[in-house]
Amino acid sequence: MRNVVVLGEGIVGASVAYHLTREGVRVTTVDTTRDGQATAAGAGIVSPGGTTSVLPDFNRLMAAAFSHYQWLIPQLAEDGQSETGFETVGELLVALNNDEQSQLGEQLSVAEQRRAEGVGGIGELSLVDDAAAREMFPALSTIHGALYIADAARLDGRLLRNALLGAAEAHGLERKSGTGTLLLENGKVHGVQVGGERIDADAVVLATGAWSAEPLAELGIDIPIVPQRGQIAHLSMPEQVTRHWPIIATFQRHYVLTFPENRVVAGATRETGSGFDYRLTAGGVHEVLGAAFSVADGLRAATLSEVRIGFRPMSPDNLPILGAIPGHDRLFIATGHGPAGLSLGAHSGAMVADMVLGNEVDLDVSAYLPGRFMTA
Ligand SMILES: Cc1cc2nc3c(=O)[nH]c(=O)nc-3n(C[C@H](O)[C@H](O)[C@H](O)COP(=O)(O)OP(=O)(O)OC[C@H]3O[C@@H](n4cnc5c(N)ncnc54)[C@H](O)[C@@H]3O)c2cc1C
Repeated sequence: MRNVVVLGEGIVGASVAYHLTREGVRVTTVDTTRDGQATAAGAGIVSPGGTTSVLPDFNRLMAAAFSHYQWLIPQLAEDGQSETGFETVGELLVALNNDEQSQLGEQLSVAEQRRAEGVGGIGELSLVDDAAAREMFPALSTIHGALYIADAARLDGRLLRNALLGAAEAHGLERKSGTGTLLLENGKVHGVQVGGERIDADAVVLATGAWSAEPLAELGIDIPIVPQRGQIAHLSMPEQVTRHWPIIATFQRHYVLTFPENRVVAGATRETGSGFDYRLTAGGVHEVLGAAFSVADGLRAATLSEVRIGFRPMSPDNLPILGAIPGHDRLFIATGHGPAGLSLGAHSGAMVADMVLGNEVDLDVSAYLPGRFMTA
């Protein structure tokens, strides 16, 4: 493949572009800059020890994706892109009542098991009491103990996306704005059309997130990707205190994480059935702030600086969709990362770049192929 077009410049498309340009492929990315890019809204938690998924195919992808970051972050720095927000900050899974407290031991066993299997991003594990937890995260409310996962990490989705695109540009990436549609000849894909411009390509990669059903509909292919709205609040603390605060995770799936120097992110709604309704709702803001205050009452003193909205690309089986579209060997898709695309997406982009190049992929991908939802 000498010439590839990637539709979508979220984390997945940016990663596909980065990995292909590194191999000397001529790549053009196209993005519509739609409201609700998930990458621009995502929180950025990357914690293989804290994930609650029980799907083995999800968890082995998570483990491989974390390893990929161990390679990618220093590699991007070598490419002159060291601003990714990726940092090991630790995580406290917090119990807010006796019932949740009784579940901490089980979560500890799950994380220990993953660590014993060689999964990275876990490190030291310990059950800590209220006082020890508050020492790590002073804004905490009264809690009923917590599980501490020392090597959990977080990143800044916007920074990482920009770093991947910047590094890819240094390797020759060309970027275009607009809505890409597939260029078809005799039912086969030959490139994309952007406005009045035709871009011929040896392969096209759809990294179009929650919008992925649209371009495939042109081929009469129905792919079951739907948007799930997430609203997420950004707060500013009055002082520069947050740099070393760990991620706070809860059994209700709400969380709080911090970025230097004083930004606190409180997330997030999971609004199944939202469609592409790009609205900040009173109920959404109430939900995320209420959940944040119940776990970290000290955040009430913060300023509400922004609420972001993103559409997670959800697949029916909660696994990504990666690979060639059946019957179209020049058309690839990389989507369906749902609530975990900032953890998984960079690695998925690398795998799909390998598929485009016909290289062997470092993982058994059979569980993620698009063919599970469609036939040729
Ligand atoms: C509130 C929230 C919190 C989250 N928190 C986390 C987290 O803590 N950890 C984690 O791992 N994940 C998290 N996620 C999930 C993660 O953000 C997503 O799974 C991931 O960003 C999806 O990336 P993507 O590249 O597939 O899609 P997107 O980032 O949505 O990018 C798709 C791009 O395609 C473009 N596009 C669409 N159609 C076309 C077209 N026809 N032509 C050109 N361009 C097109 C769009 O404009 C968009 O820019 C969160 C998501 C949300 C919303």
